[in-house]
Amino acid sequence: MQPIELFYPQLKHPKKVVITTHQKPDADAMGSSLGLMHVLAQLGHTVSVISPTNWAGFLNWMPGCKHVIDYESKIVEANKLIESADWIFCLDFNVLLRTRKMEEPIRNAGGIKILIDHHQEPQITAFTYGISDTKKSSTAEMVFDFIQNSGNGALINNDCAQCLYAGVMTDTGSFRFPSTTASVHRMVASLLENGLEHSKVHENLYDNFSESRFRFIGHVLLNRLEVYYEYNTAVIAVPQTDLIKYEIKTGDTEGLVNYPLSISGIKLAVIIIDRGEERKLSFRSKGDFDVNTFARKYFNGGGHFNAAGGSSKDPFDEVVKNFVIAMKENKDKLSSYQF
Ligand code: 5GP
Ligand code: MN
Repeated sequence: MQPIELFYPQLKHPKKVVITTHQKPDADAMGSSLGLMHVLAQLGHTVSVISPTNWAGFLNWMPGCKHVIDYESKIVEANKLIESADWIFCLDFNVLLRTRKMEEPIRNAGGIKILIDHHQEPQITAFTYGISDTKKSSTAEMVFDFIQNSGNGALINNDCAQCLYAGVMTDTGSFRFPSTTASVHRMVASLLENGLEHSKVHENLYDNFSESRFRFIGHVLLNRLEVYYEYNTAVIAVPQTDLIKYEIKTGDTEGLVNYPLSISGIKLAVIIIDRGEERKLSFRSKGDFDVNTFARKYFNGGGHFNAAGGSSKDPFDEVVKNFVIAMKENKDKLSSYQF
């Protein structure tokens, strides 16, 4: 993988471009992809954004989202675009496996592959050019840098700004995580100076849920939360019956894993969701507990130091039990309280 700066000179020649991201894209994945799309389109490129799967309805307000192709529902069309693309931008993921069924078509595609990502241990041999920086708050921030550093900052219009702001705001937990650096604030200042209405983005993302999802959160916090004080750990385990009863859709469970971290002393929070075809786990930690390593070791996953995910095909009850065993194995790291 060559440094991304070496790619900049090519940007002025119009090309066929595919931008993709990880399955079940979150606001950073979708926001960084669409933010980049808005700028590349102004440079004269023909741009398609392809998501490996469907996405949460609360992302649909993003300018350009209605043109995003869901790979799983338009495989033939999407494969043609991938095969004929001159460039394939891969945003907000470290390994091609995160694009699920798109992994093979992307690997076989002849186009130049460009990685922009902030996850640990990127698969650098899979990409022609790229930048991987785990210190960056979000891929949206990295796309902002990409646009600025390639001399295209003037093309960041309001549509682009809304998308990039959504990415950086959500990935920094509304600017509270340690990854929120001075350059994050400088980026936001620049977006605001150019007319971004940031409170509209917050409303679009956070004030658009169904009553049923709201009641689901109440139910889960009351009935599905277990706190292990001696391990400074909280576990939320959600059976599939809950998802069906409350009509829970993609994205409705996002952010729920963070709630228990506001209990005093809690250092590790996990949510285990029975999605039917697999059990999905999300981990969040505070301070010195490395959930990236934990997710890799026990649940075939990964992510960042303080936010990671994994999955399992084992039955739900077994996954919950296995988590408890893994937690107990990590007692030394979890019970020492170092913030
Ligand atoms: P979330 O818990 O919000 O799904 O994901 C937290 C972080 O971990 C994100 O940065 C996400 O990309 C990463 N992540 C989530 N699930 C997986 C997984 O199964 N494998 C890997 N490698 N990373 C994951
Ligand atoms: Mn991200």
